[in-house]
Amino acid sequence: MEKNNKNFSLMLRGTRTFICDNCGHKFKGGDFEWNCTAFSAPLKCPKCGSFHTYPYSSSGDIFGWIFGSDKSIYEDIWKTMDEQHNNIDNE
Ligand SMILES: [Zn+2]
Repeated sequence: MEKNNKNFSLMLRGTRTFICDNCGHKFKGGDFEWNCTAFSAPLKCPKCGSFHTYPYSSSGDIFGWIFGSDKSIYEDIWKTMDEQHNNIDNE
């Protein structure tokens, strides 16, 4: 995540635990703001290499509440990331 992408606006807020939607692996990583929203930018899973990850939180956490109520938000983010990655590959 060191490389700045012109299409992303990332701001580091600290670290948090993420969970991989692909393999279920939990890992700690940098908590980056996703395009100036309250959501955390998905990080690449260190185990399987997928970036379809989302912040994992215990109940009572505000992010857990947001995420638990609407996973489609992260599915949209993943879709955007897929498109961004395709653009990078084509350059
Ligand atoms: Zn994984």
